[in-house]
Amino acid sequence: MINKIDHIGIAVSSIEKSLPFYTTILNLQLEGIEEVDSEKVRVAFIKIGESKLELLEPLSSDSPIAKFIEKRGEGIHHIALGTSSIEERIREIKENGIRMLADEPKFGAGGAKIAFMHPKSTGSVLYELCEKQSKGDAK
Ligand code: ZN
Repeated sequence: MINKIDHIGIAVSSIEKSLPFYTTILNLQLEGIEEVDSEKVRVAFIKIGESKLELLEPLSSDSPIAKFIEKRGEGIHHIALGTSSIEERIREIKENGIRMLADEPKFGAGGAKIAFMHPKSTGSVLYELCEKQSKGDAK
């Protein structure tokens, strides 16, 4: 089931420059920084209650995030919906006429399985489905 906002993805030109706003001014906790090769981005996860903010910095000019920033500037990029059984969710969503950017999930940050819905099908919101791998892990 889809059962929470796992995180909100925010496109930034530089994690280093953006981070102090979150960690120093808002006093939120940085959970970690990692590179996600499949998306050519570096991501910083900032914990906020049960959800997270995901700062996305492009690693190369052909990264989808670089293209997003070029077109629209920095800002909210996507909303990630936490789900179980992501393959089943994708099937149901497609059966209801919603397009996916890819039909198979790929591996995102933290080894989560992720898949994006096409914004043309969702009122221009880029929604990510996100399934965390380790079920017993409370994180
Ligand atoms: Zn995300």
